[in-house]
Amino acid sequence: MINIPKGTKDVLPDQSYKWQYVENAAREVSRVYALREVRTPTFEYTELFNRGVGETTDVVGKEMYTFEDKGGRSITLKPEGTAGVARTFIENGLASSPMPLKTFYITPAFRYERPQAGRLREFHQFGIEIFGSSAPQTDAEVIFAASSFLKKLGVKARLEINSIGCKTCRSEYNKTLKNYFAPHLEQMCETCKTRFEKNPLRMLDCKEDNCKKIALSAPRITDCLCEECSAHFKNVKNLLDGQGLQYTVNPFIVRGLDYYTRTVFEFVSDEIGAQGTVCGGGRYDGLIEQLGGSSLPAIGFAAGIERLLIVMENTGAHFPEADKPLIYIAGMDEETRSKAFSVAAELRQKGIIAEIDHMSRSVKAQLKYADKLGAKYVAVIGGDELANGGVNLKNMSDGTQCAVKFGDIYTYLTKGE
Ligand code: ATP
Ligand code: MG
Repeated sequence: MINIPKGTKDVLPDQSYKWQYVENAAREVSRVYALREVRTPTFEYTELFNRGVGETTDVVGKEMYTFEDKGGRSITLKPEGTAGVARTFIENGLASSPMPLKTFYITPAFRYERPQAGRLREFHQFGIEIFGSSAPQTDAEVIFAASSFLKKLGVKARLEINSIGCKTCRSEYNKTLKNYFAPHLEQMCETCKTRFEKNPLRMLDCKEDNCKKIALSAPRITDCLCEECSAHFKNVKNLLDGQGLQYTVNPFIVRGLDYYTRTVFEFVSDEIGAQGTVCGGGRYDGLIEQLGGSSLPAIGFAAGIERLLIVMENTGAHFPEADKPLIYIAGMDEETRSKAFSVAAELRQKGIIAEIDHMSRSVKAQLKYADKLGAKYVAVIGGDELANGGVNLKNMSDGTQCAVKFGDIYTYLTKGE
């Protein structure tokens, strides 16, 4: 017996309609926001994530699935979606297409984490990325897109936002942070000691209780923003206010990845405990340049589909029922079974969900099975039916029957009479 790898999940056939529902909602939101789908490979050269996500992050430092391929290249399964999209953007010269370039993706992502509820080693993200605009309107639009996606799914999550400034204000802030953390450093975790040297901002994101406690009184980045970043943040907040979108400013949101600048945000659900962040995003104005492209602003978010499904299931969200056969056609012997086969084939050609027997069951057993499937109509083809050129269509919900010629079944079913 070979089991599923640790930290991964199967989606069974009787559950997949939930995934399709969430993915359809993602596609529908993307459609009205004029975002177009982009698909990038599941694996990339490791260097992309080292440079794009940042070597001081947990994702790159501890969580990547990295291996050498048979040609001796270092390959990594994508731990997130943005770096690949940025790479393809640069590689395909999309900077010369009309701006902004608005994209979305639905992708698996891989992180070697300690598996727990809402934290897997393979998980899935719906993400959007908008390239080319530095306007606060775009920040607001991205936040709205995330909010309407969650609303569509009936997921209640609070919005927390922050600004982590640009290179200029951040280097000032990092100095301020170092001054603050220096006297506490002895009591902090090993990772924070490294962060202190390489990227003090990350210390605000530590999950260790003691480090968290110390970080609580650290100076706030929102008090240290340069004039432009401060104005930008104010603008974004005004736009959210203008649309009545509620949020709180949380100065501890720094996001797990290094490429963020200015606006960062998370949607957090209180329904699923520690892994409550269902969607995270922000601006990453430095990423394209850092990956060798021109200097070009960008912003996006990624929502974790597994976490959304957990919230939806915990709150009894409504999932539209999976499709059921509209008609089950039963046959009795070789000749009538073959007729059932051809009637079903014709209906399927026209888009009707039609089912027939595959198990050589008796008529009685077929009807029982049709009932289990939830077929709306059932037709039994016997010798008489063959001779008459038609069937009795039985409506399973009210028991009514109607004689219908073989050639009229489609019209009858689609009229719903
Ligand atoms: P966390 O702080 O929970 O580890 P993160 O900051 O690492 O999250 P992001 O890189 O921003 O997460 O990814 C965006 C979203 O993807 C998260 O908000 C979450 O919903 C989902 N996600 C991230 N890691 C996992 C995982 N290991 N398993 C399931 N979903 C995940
Ligand atoms: Mg993480």
